[in-house]
Amino acid sequence: RDVLSMSARVAPVGSQMVLLLVEDRTKERRLDAIRRDFVANVSHELKTPIGALTLLSEAVQDAADDPEAVQRFAGRMQIESERLSRLVQQIIELTRVQADDPVEEAATVEVDSVVDAALDRSRVDANAKQIKLIRAGLRDLIVLGSEAQLVIALGNLIENAVRYSPDHTRVVVDVQVVDADQADAGAGELVELSVSDQGVGIPEEELDRVFERFYRVDRARSRATGGTGLGLSIVKHVAASHGGAVTVWSVEGKGSTFTLQLPLRGEAADAHRVVAGAL
Ligand code: ADP
Repeated sequence: RDVLSMSARVAPVGSQMVLLLVEDRTKERRLDAIRRDFVANVSHELKTPIGALTLLSEAVQDAADDPEAVQRFAGRMQIESERLSRLVQQIIELTRVQADDPVEEAATVEVDSVVDAALDRSRVDANAKQIKLIRAGLRDLIVLGSEAQLVIALGNLIENAVRYSPDHTRVVVDVQVVDADQADAGAGELVELSVSDQGVGIPEEELDRVFERFYRVDRARSRATGGTGLGLSIVKHVAASHGGAVTVWSVEGKGSTFTLQLPLRGEAADAHRVVAGAL
């Protein structure tokens, strides 16, 4: 079914002739199936927090004369509603990055601004776990694309690094430039934005799958820490639509490094190279 799906239409052209219009609908069909699958997954994912909220609100009503229990249930309701709003936010982000074509409306983007804004998104969570965010590598580089999308992508990688790391560890965001040959992709030079953590790591056999929508290595851990299973699929989409890629290297129990590669568009005139700097 996936190999060929055609639709044919016969259009009369004159009294003697007909025109046979054959249209390949394979891609369209495949996209339809992906969309259906996504909607089914989203519905399933939404059911969990909504179900929990329903049960908790019943529990609150039943415990009306026990203020301590009401307090406890209300706290859990807050966690579930935050989860729900995060999930909805990520669904919107995924839909948005899929709809916008960053190449069409490409602008020059300063990598430093992307890194700063992405780090800012995780500062509160990192502080709460006393995780040190470190910015290392090159400055003043320029890429082409959508700044908003790049902030979301790098922000998701940093957010994950903080989420899947124990307290008192370090998360390093490093910026480097490599030759495309070395990075095994097209021509020219690539900017590599890598995010390294000292967290739980990912088992080797799961490395390929973490970029799939809603795939989670440890569902309970992801859920307990506010994960949605969509973050890396957003990163993958943004990387591809910017002519780049995202790769992962990880050792279970030791940590992970996610690397976002983007085609380099230039360096600022007064570019200078900075080795490392703690924030
Ligand atoms: P989630 O919202 O669950 O974090 P993602 O798509 O961002 O979803 O990531 C998918 C899965 O990949 C996560 O559930 C987690 O199991 C794994 N993962 C992602 N980043 C890391 C990391 N830095 N360290 C360990 N595991 C990670």
